[in-house]
Amino acid sequence: MNTKELDSTYVAHTYARFPLEIVSGHGAIAVGADGRDYIDLGSGIGVNAFGYSDEAWIETVTRQLHTLQHTSNLYYTAPCVQLAEMLCERTGMSKVFFCNSGAEANEGAIKAARRRSFLKYGEGRSTIITLKNSFHGRTVTTLAATGQENFHTEFGPFTEGFVYCEPENNDELRRLADENACCAVMIETIQGEGGVYVLSDEFISAVAALCDEKDLCLIVDEVQTGNGRTGELYSYMHYGIKPDIVTTAKGLAGGLPLGAVMLGGRAADVYTPGSHGSTFGGNPVCCAGAVSVLSRIDDKLLDDVRKKSEYIFSELTGAKGVSSVSGRGLMIGIEPDGKKAADVIAMCMERGVLVLSAKTRVRLLPPLNIGFDELRRAIQIIKEVLAQ
Ligand SMILES: *Cc1c(COP(=O)(O)O)cnc(C)c1O
Repeated sequence: MNTKELDSTYVAHTYARFPLEIVSGHGAIAVGADGRDYIDLGSGIGVNAFGYSDEAWIETVTRQLHTLQHTSNLYYTAPCVQLAEMLCERTGMSKVFFCNSGAEANEGAIKAARRRSFLKYGEGRSTIITLKNSFHGRTVTTLAATGQENFHTEFGPFTEGFVYCEPENNDELRRLADENACCAVMIETIQGEGGVYVLSDEFISAVAALCDEKDLCLIVDEVQTGNGRTGELYSYMHYGIKPDIVTTAKGLAGGLPLGAVMLGGRAADVYTPGSHGSTFGGNPVCCAGAVSVLSRIDDKLLDDVRKKSEYIFSELTGAKGVSSVSGRGLMIGIEPDGKKAADVIAMCMERGVLVLSAKTRVRLLPPLNIGFDELRRAIQIIKEVLAQ
C-alpha cells in the first residue's frame, strides 16, 4: 500500500487531507513525494516559523537531543528556565507555564483565571466571556470556549461557564459582564480560524477597560498570532494593552510541540505547587527549539515581517478576483471574488504554491523568514489563479 492507502486504512479519519505527501523541505520549499517543489505559504499552519530544515534551529535542537531529551518536571532543566526568562523579559509577564499545544495552553489559562477568582472571591464567579466566531481548541473545555455553535454538538456535555459576545459589540460585552458572575474575558486579536478577522483597537480597548473595571482576567489567545506572526512579538503589543494571561503555541518552537501560558498582572502568582501540571511541559528539546526561534525574532526580523506584509497587501488589495484582504503581518486572509477558497487552494497547489483556508478566505501564514524572491513568485501565482 502507498502512504495514502495506509493513512486511509490505519489513521483515524479526522482530517480531510490535500492530495499531497510532503517528504522533506528546505526554507520555504516543501518537497512532495511527486518530486515537485512547492513554495509553502502555510508553514504547517504557522508552526514552522523559520521554514523547513532551518540550520541554526536543527543545530540547537540536536545538541539538546544529544544532551538530555527529557527528565520530568520533578527536576530543574536549563532550556526551560532560559525560555521562561526570555518570554518574561520580552513581554513583561511574570511567570510561564509550559505545556504541549494550543488547546492545552488555553486549558491552563482557563484554569488560571478560574483559580484566581476562586482564591479571591470564592465559589461561583467562574464564567468566561469569549467571542463569537472564535477558536480556542479541540478539548471539551476549549470547544466550549470556542464561540461557534457548530463546535457545540456531538461531544456533550460540554464544560459550563462560557458566554459568547459578538465581536465589536461593546453593549453586548457589558451586558454579559453585568448578567454573569465572570472571572475573565478571552479573545484572539485576530480570529484566525474564524476567517482572519482583525479586531478593532476600540473593541480591544473596551475589553481591557471592562476587565479593569470588574477585576476580570484578560486572556489573549496568541496560539496563532504569537511569536512574530503579526509583525510584533505578540499581537496584543499592537494594542497597548496589558493582558493578565497570554497563551501561545504553534510557531513557538519552530516545529516542535510546545505551548505556553504566560501569567502576569492579576494572574501572576495564581499557580502554586500541585495546582496544575503537564508531563511533557517544558521538555528540554522543545524549549531549546523555542529559544532558537525567539532569539531570532528581533526588531530586524519583525521589520521584515511588516515589509513583506505591506508587499502582500499592496499586490493583492484590489487585484482581479480579490474582494478583500485582511490580517496583519504574515497572517493574511484573502476573500476571493467569485471562486471558492478550496478551488483557489487546489489551483495554487497545481502551480506549485501551498496556501490554507479559513472559513471563506484563502489564508497565508508563510515562514517569517521567507525570501522576497520566493514570496514574489508565490504571490504572482496566487494573483494569476485568482484572476482566472
Ligand atoms: C490552532 C489554535 C488553537 C489550538 O491549538 P492546538 O495546538 O491545535 O491545540 C487554539 N487557539 C487558536 C487561536 C489557534 O489558532
